[in-house]
Amino acid sequence: MIRINENYLKLQASYLFSDIAKRVAAYQQANPEMTLIKLGIGDVTRALPDACIKALHQAVDEMASDSSFRGYGPEQGYEFLREAIAREDFQARGANIDADEIFVSDGAKCDSGNFQEIFSTDIRVAIPDPVYPVYVDTNVMAGRSGQAQEGRYQGLVYLEGKRDNGFIPELPGEPVDLIYLCFPNNPTGVTASRSQLKQWVDYARENRSLILFDAAYEAFIKDPELPHSIYEIDGAREVAVEFRSFSKTAGFTGTRCAYTVVPKDCMAYTKTGDSVTVHSLWNRRHTTKFNSVSYPVQRAAEAVYSSAGKIQVQELIAYYLNNASFIRQGMESLGYDCIGGENSPYIWIDGKGDSWSFFDRLLSQAGVVCTPGAGFGKCGEGYIRISAFNSFENVQEAMARIGRAL
Ligand SMILES: *Cc1c(COP(=O)(O)O)cnc(C)c1O
Repeated sequence: MIRINENYLKLQASYLFSDIAKRVAAYQQANPEMTLIKLGIGDVTRALPDACIKALHQAVDEMASDSSFRGYGPEQGYEFLREAIAREDFQARGANIDADEIFVSDGAKCDSGNFQEIFSTDIRVAIPDPVYPVYVDTNVMAGRSGQAQEGRYQGLVYLEGKRDNGFIPELPGEPVDLIYLCFPNNPTGVTASRSQLKQWVDYARENRSLILFDAAYEAFIKDPELPHSIYEIDGAREVAVEFRSFSKTAGFTGTRCAYTVVPKDCMAYTKTGDSVTVHSLWNRRHTTKFNSVSYPVQRAAEAVYSSAGKIQVQELIAYYLNNASFIRQGMESLGYDCIGGENSPYIWIDGKGDSWSFFDRLLSQAGVVCTPGAGFGKCGEGYIRISAFNSFENVQEAMARIGRAL
């Protein structure tokens, strides 16, 4: 008899995006003349940078001829891309990361979801609330969560983000082994300073824990004081893995390319306390279960680091950040407390009531779709997330309508 992994039955069905879709469909049916403006989902809307398109075309042509055709590439990614990443994203910022510590993949969603596989199922896991749901659900599937009670898994440690701490969680009050952090944050848009990250790195070193640092929105950081990578913090090479993605940086959500940094100094331990490098475990996992990203896509990602590519990516980011600033100023002038939207494409807004009522008001009175904060965890209740991923014209129209409605 084929039996299931019963941990899957513990998963709390996430109705967030299907609930949003249902309410949007019902509204659209009742108001067919209304054009909705979607500022809800976390997906980019603008075309790939021209440098990436050129690189893609050229690589596709190479595949058309026997003499330049490429079959399987190295599972960890081509040297040309790993070298460019190590040099441009890390060494240029004074972070000491080598090309052979980079693992190219088809997404930070998969990497941040898969990474927990190489650790024991009986470790203590700390996860922020509100949060990108992948970290929680993949630990539930692996059997680390216990049962859910009133929206919280009994076996997880929640790192609470609240108004009082500016949605930057404090260190846990009990020892934990694996810690998920995401800055700039999805959904709140908050960033962490050097000293805040240093606290987490010090904690991890004292407790021999490991930080999984999701930096998918790193490219949106414009404040020169803020760290872009956790490896800008002393000691992080021993205790942190970092996820990066070309999705939000360069519009690759539909093209698929990302990478994970696993420094060779990161250690994990056997039951008897012997140390094993996390790099060797992840390398084994990655080469066994993954066959790398297509050659044309890796060439397109490499083009992000060309001189033309860098300028085009900066323009793309500046465009979304301008939207974000416009939204934040608009909401603040209407008397709403906002965070994020300065070094992040997300604005996190205190709706002064419950998340879904505010969502419904924006939908029914302004025809604007946002995301209710409650969908990201208990601590998200009362808030909504507005995303800057849309055209400036649509953002202007959305804010004009919201201004009239509220
Ligand atoms: C969008 C996003 C990612 C990137 O996912 P990809 O699979 O690389 O497209 C990773 N983490 C967070 C928090 C995100 O919002």
